[in-house]
Amino acid sequence: MRLPSLLQFRILKEVFKALFTGPYTTKFPYKPHTPAEKFRGKPEYDEEECVGCGACAEVCPPQCIDMVDGEEKRKFTLHYDDCIFCGQCQANCITEKGIKLTLEYDLATFDRTKARTSIEKDLLFCEHCGAVIGVIDHIKWVVRRLGPLAYANPGLLLVSHKELGLAEREARRLKEFPRRSDRIKFCCPKCRREVVLAD
Ligand code: SF4
Ligand code: SF4
Repeated sequence: MRLPSLLQFRILKEVFKALFTGPYTTKFPYKPHTPAEKFRGKPEYDEEECVGCGACAEVCPPQCIDMVDGEEKRKFTLHYDDCIFCGQCQANCITEKGIKLTLEYDLATFDRTKARTSIEKDLLFCEHCGAVIGVIDHIKWVVRRLGPLAYANPGLLLVSHKELGLAEREARRLKEFPRRSDRIKFCCPKCRREVVLAD
């Protein structure tokens, strides 16, 4: 008679063990399932911690995060139906808390338009031409990170001295522009270059 090989012996051992320990699989969807602590489920934005920098949209491998600048706000839309739950958005978030993968796993739906979440952040515009400079929360975050070094930049200097207000979206091409006083204004790089070179 041929004796069982080591592999067969191990398989038999697992079979007998399973008879007493029960199945490893869960009863979902008939019974709720509790995922493991490090399970990578539905990514969720945190309104307070996200500063709207856009790093998560840049690093997302399947590009399932849309970033669109509107009239007043930058809108991020995350499509769960394209997400591969890799966790790159969370790993590369500059605040480390702006987006987190939750334990939520039951995302199946027949309506793909519901498989998304979004967040909006206020934009800062150039006071001269109306071009988008960035997201206000992001600029404030940069000022906090730079500390006293922020004083080297006129735009950041303004942020560190007062709360930002939204500049008018429409271009306000002043007749006397560029003037030296325009250095202390929220200007996009193009307008700031004009101010520095022309006056
Ligand atoms: S988990 Fe991965 S695929 Fe999903 S949104 Fe984040 S970066 Fe994109
Ligand atoms: S702060 Fe984090 S979550 Fe918000 S846009 Fe930047 S990378 Fe994405």
